[in-house]
Amino acid sequence: MREALTAYVALGANLGDAAQAVRDACTRLGELDGTRLVRQSSLYRSAPVDSQGPDYINAVAELATRLTALELLAQLQRLELAAGRERPYRNAPRTLDLDLLLYGDARIDSPQLQVPHPRMNQRAFVLVPLAEIAPQLVPASSLQAVAGQSLTRLPPG
Ligand code: AMP
Repeated sequence: MREALTAYVALGANLGDAAQAVRDACTRLGELDGTRLVRQSSLYRSAPVDSQGPDYINAVAELATRLTALELLAQLQRLELAAGRERPYRNAPRTLDLDLLLYGDARIDSPQLQVPHPRMNQRAFVLVPLAEIAPQLVPASSLQAVAGQSLTRLPPG
């Protein structure tokens, strides 16, 4: 059987009970075939970037998974759909958005999937929760570069 790799997934939601949608999605990620939820960051609140609507709730999850990167992407898309995401137009508000940030140390550049996620270093709502659970992966200079973006860590619960 394939060896388990460490993958990081960014979660975001800004419609309905967004905090609950993100918590539920973390649980679902840990229930995928051949996959275990290793840790999850706190929840964070961020203002929409290139998008509209209410503030987002964001988090990052660390997974140990035997799924291939494309299998994992397909499962993320399935969970997005199951959470009722509709895509009337690009960057519309969404019930749940799941992005694969890192998959082991793989570099993937196919039409369907780019890893590391090409925009992860521009977004405080990705880098700050990632640094909370995997500080070794986020250089201080990257955090510094997004320090101007408003982001609030929510208390547990
Ligand atoms: P989004 O609107 O941000 O959810 O973008 C979804 C699209 O981005 C899908 O068509 C995916 O195939 C593509 N995509 C490319 N790289 C990634 C990635 N690392 N994680 C999630 N989706 C990705």
